[in-house]
Amino acid sequence: MSVLNISDVSKVFSTTRAVDSFSLDVADGELVCLLGPSGSGKSTLLRMVGGFERPSSGLITIDGQEITHLPPEKRPTGMVFQSHALWTHMNVFKNLAFGLKLRRLPADEIKRRVEGVLELVGLGGYGTRHVTQLSGGQQQRVALARSLVLEPKILLLDEPFASLDQHLRERLREEVRDIQQRLKITTLFVTHGQDEALSMADRIVVMRDGKIEQADRPDVVYREP
Ligand code: ADP
Ligand code: ADP
Repeated sequence: MSVLNISDVSKVFSTTRAVDSFSLDVADGELVCLLGPSGSGKSTLLRMVGGFERPSSGLITIDGQEITHLPPEKRPTGMVFQSHALWTHMNVFKNLAFGLKLRRLPADEIKRRVEGVLELVGLGGYGTRHVTQLSGGQQQRVALARSLVLEPKILLLDEPFASLDQHLRERLREEVRDIQQRLKITTLFVTHGQDEALSMADRIVVMRDGKIEQADRPDVVYREP
């Protein structure tokens, strides 16, 4: 069963065709890596799925529902960016609780969900920490937690580890893949790193000039010649 349907989607910025008649179906619980060089349209595609950008043409549906017209708080997606954009004037708990308060959840439920998701990302007990006191890796875990706490249908990750060093990147890759499989959350992961795509993806979609160049399982995409 596919959860996400991207159907003949294009995005044109004045003279640039950033995404060009792109179609993709993503299955429930699948992790798809969008892999490709800088400028191939990966981020634009992800932003459209997240509802941050409107397609020039085509249709994006999640569970059969057209998503482009939904207000932000109704979007069934959670997005994590390269720069985590945490609110530095709030502690970890408040960063995570913010979106739940907007949804008017009761305080005890907010507490339960925030604490649960902090455990999940390995930051149990970190709620009262100020985000500026955390390491880069921890901050990225908070950013992930802030998305997950809203229980999105689809998780969107835009080069979330790009600013981290190699060692930490490899560790977070494993952590995220593990969390993704435990939650069985459908995920689109943008990267320009082959290693990353190879180690994480159920399926790799190689993009070039806004189109799909190849889409297959990692072992097929990187089969020895
Ligand atoms: P990638 O994520 O693969 O690096 P992007 O989706 O960021 O690719 O960009 C695809 C193309 O669209 C590039 O040529 C980029 O310059 C262009 N582009 C992206 N966003 C905008 C924008 N807001 N305005 C104009 N051009 C844009
Ligand atoms: P990084 O993200 O920089 O790799 P980690 O999250 O791997 O940092 O932290 C390494 C270990 O140190 C973990 O077990 C973590 O719980 C612990 N740790 C990190 N920062 C603190 C802190 N400020 N206080 C207590 N323990 C910490």
